[in-house]
Amino acid sequence: MRLDGSCQCGKVRFSVESETPYPYMFCYCSICRKTSGAVTCNVMGKRATLKVKGAAHVRSYHAVIRKAGQRASRSKGERAFCGLCGSHLYALDDRWPEGVWPNAAAIDTELPVPPEHVQLMTRYKPAWVPAVADGPRFAEYPKLSIAAWHEERGLTTPSSARRAPRAVSGKSRRASGKAPSRARRARKTSAE
Ligand SMILES: [Zn+2]
Ligand SMILES: [Zn+2]
Repeated sequence: MRLDGSCQCGKVRFSVESETPYPYMFCYCSICRKTSGAVTCNVMGKRATLKVKGAAHVRSYHAVIRKAGQRASRSKGERAFCGLCGSHLYALDDRWPEGVWPNAAAIDTELPVPPEHVQLMTRYKPAWVPAVADGPRFAEYPKLSIAAWHEERGLTTPSSARRAPRAVSGKSRRASGKAPSRARRARKTSAE
């Protein structure tokens, strides 16, 4: 399905095709928290289909990774923001060049509601941030990729712009034979 997104001031708009549009994964890491909000959720789209209007306003940022006992380093992942209003728009990572990870909160298209949630990086969740009640929790990153999660639940969504989002629940769809290799390539789960 096609996802349309925008920043708060409206100078940057983007669209991307996604076969994995369910916003099911909530990340509590400090990078997400400080750059996007208390609970952050990315979905995944196809980078080759990413179109950006107002790209001159887009700024990118490689987050500082701090680990105890180690020198701080820069994430290879790139977060794109509106340079005017600060909205976090999407993330890119050349280690997984086929994907783009829009910030679910920047998407204007009505996203499908996930049947359950996955919570990750819970060891970094401040006590005041509420956890969702359902679904598995992981102290760090889960092994399951966004693509594999969709495939296992039959939620992989046809990437056709002609279909209306409402019509694409895809509940009975099983992943095609090509899907596993896509899942391996799209192993990236969430922000780093
Ligand atoms: Zn803006
Ligand atoms: Zn995170």
